[in-house]
Amino acid sequence: MSFESAATAAYLIASLLFVLSLAGLSRHETAKHGLICGVAGMVIALAATIGLVLDGRPGAASLALLLIAIVVGGALGLRRARIVQMTGMPELIALLHSFVGLAAVLVGWNGYLAADHLEGALVRIHHAEVFIGIFIGAVTFTGSIVAFLKLSARITSAPLMLPGKNLINVGALVLFATLTVAFVINPLLWELVAVTILALALGWHLVASIGGGDMPVVVSMLNSYSGWAAAASGFLLGNDLLIVTGALVGSSGAYLSYIMCQAMNRSFLSVIAGGFGIEATSSGGDRDYGEHREINAGDTAELLACASSVVITPGYGMAVAQAQYPVAELTRILRERGVTVRFGIHPVAGRLPGHMNVLLAEAKVPYDIALEMDEINDDLADTDVVLVIGANDTVNPAAAEDPGSPIAGMPVLRVWEAANVVVFKRSMAAGYAGVQNPLFFRDNTQMLFGDAKERVEDILRTLREDHVHAERATSSAAR
Ligand code: NDP
Repeated sequence: MSFESAATAAYLIASLLFVLSLAGLSRHETAKHGLICGVAGMVIALAATIGLVLDGRPGAASLALLLIAIVVGGALGLRRARIVQMTGMPELIALLHSFVGLAAVLVGWNGYLAADHLEGALVRIHHAEVFIGIFIGAVTFTGSIVAFLKLSARITSAPLMLPGKNLINVGALVLFATLTVAFVINPLLWELVAVTILALALGWHLVASIGGGDMPVVVSMLNSYSGWAAAASGFLLGNDLLIVTGALVGSSGAYLSYIMCQAMNRSFLSVIAGGFGIEATSSGGDRDYGEHREINAGDTAELLACASSVVITPGYGMAVAQAQYPVAELTRILRERGVTVRFGIHPVAGRLPGHMNVLLAEAKVPYDIALEMDEINDDLADTDVVLVIGANDTVNPAAAEDPGSPIAGMPVLRVWEAANVVVFKRSMAAGYAGVQNPLFFRDNTQMLFGDAKERVEDILRTLREDHVHAERATSSAAR
C-alpha cells in the first residue's frame, strides 16, 4: 500500500472519529467521550498530513513550515484555552471562527495565483471554487470579528440600523452572483479584489445589524459559516478530510442555529440575512417606569425563611460573580428546612448554550431540580419567591408585552407572575441586549444590589445566625 492510500485511510478514520465526536458531544453524559474522539481524530489527521509531507507529495508545504505552524498554533491555542474564563468562551470561539475565515481567504487567493497547471473545464470549476471560497471566508472573517467585539463588550451590542439595510444585503448578494459569473468566464484580478472587499463589508454589516439578544444564534451561525469556509478550502486543496470536516461543522452549526431560532421564536432566514425585515425598535431606555424598591440581604433571608416554594433563575451575572457555590449552599439549606427549591433555566441565559447547567452541575446542584424554561414557566404564578440571580434579558417582560422591543417575541421566564421577586444585580443597568427591564419597577419586585456572590453569602450568614438563635431559644425554653 502506497503512503498516499495509507493517508487516505487515516483521513477516513479521522472523519469517522469526528462524526462520533459530534454524536458524543450532543449529550451531557457522553460529552467527554465525544471530546476524546475529536482529539484522536485530529491527532490522526495531523499525523497523516505530516506523513504526506515527509513522503514528498508534490505541492505539499515543507515539513519545516508545517512544524513551525503546528508548534506556534498549538502553543497559542493551549495558552488561550488554559487562561480563558468560562464567561470568555463565546468571544474566544468567535475569534477562532475568524481564523478559519481568514485561512479560507488566503487559500482562495493562493488557489488563484497557483492555478497555472489546470486545463479545460477544470479551470472554470477551479475559478468558481476560488471565488466562492474567498466570499464565504471573508464574510466569516469580518462577521466573526464583529461578533468577538460585541461579545467582549468592546463595541455596543445594539443592532446597527443603516437606512435601507435589507437593500444593502440583497444588493451585495446580487453583485456577488454577477461577479462570480464574470470571473468564471474571464478571471481578472480586480474581480477577486472586488469580491474580497465586498464580502468583508457584507460580513461586517450582517453581524453588526443583529441585536445582542440574537447573538447566540449568530455565534452558531458563524460556526456554520466557518465549516463551509473550511469545506471550500478542502475543494481547492483537494483535501477530502477538510471537505468532510467542513461539511460536518457547517451542517451541524446550521442545525444548531435553526434549533436556537425556534427556541427564541426568531425567523432563521431573518437572522442569517442580518436581521432581514426587522425595523428600528425602541430599547425602552427613555420610558418612565416609575420607582424601584430595594431590599437588603437580611430581609431577603426572612422572606426565604417564610416561603414554601422558591424558584431561582440564574443568568450571566451569576457566572461573572461565580455565585454558583453559595447558591448551591443556599439551595441545600432551604431544602433541608422543607422549602421546595427549583431552578428555571432559560435556553440562552449566560453567554453559551447550557452555560447555567454547567455552572450548577459544577456546584453539585441536583439535576432534577434544574428545569428548562418551558417546564417551570406555568408554575411561577404559584411560587412564593423568585430569586433572579444576575439574569436580565431572560426575565424581561418587555419581550412578552412590548411589540416594539428589540427582544419582542423572545420567550422569557415569566418571573413577574410570582408573589415576590428579588433581583440580584449591581446597578439598574440594562442587560446584554441593551433593553431596559420593566420587571425592576413592578410592585412585587425588590432589588438586592451588589455582587451576587457577596449578597448570597450575606443571606446564608443571616439564615445560619437565625438558625443558631432559634436553636438556643428552643434549648433554653426546654431548660
Ligand atoms: P444579561 O446578560 O441580560 O444580564 C446579566 C446581568 O447580570 C446584568 O444586568 C448585570 O447587571 C448583572 N451582573 C453582572 N455581573 C454581576 C455580578 N457580579 N453580580 C450581580 N449581578 C451581575 O443576562 P441573561 O443571562 O439574562 O441573558 C443573556 C443574554 O446574553 C441574552 O440577551 C442572550 O441572548 C445573550 N447571549 C447569550 C448567549 C448564549 O449562548 N447563552 C451567547 C451570546 C449572547 P449589573 O451590571 O447591574 O450588575
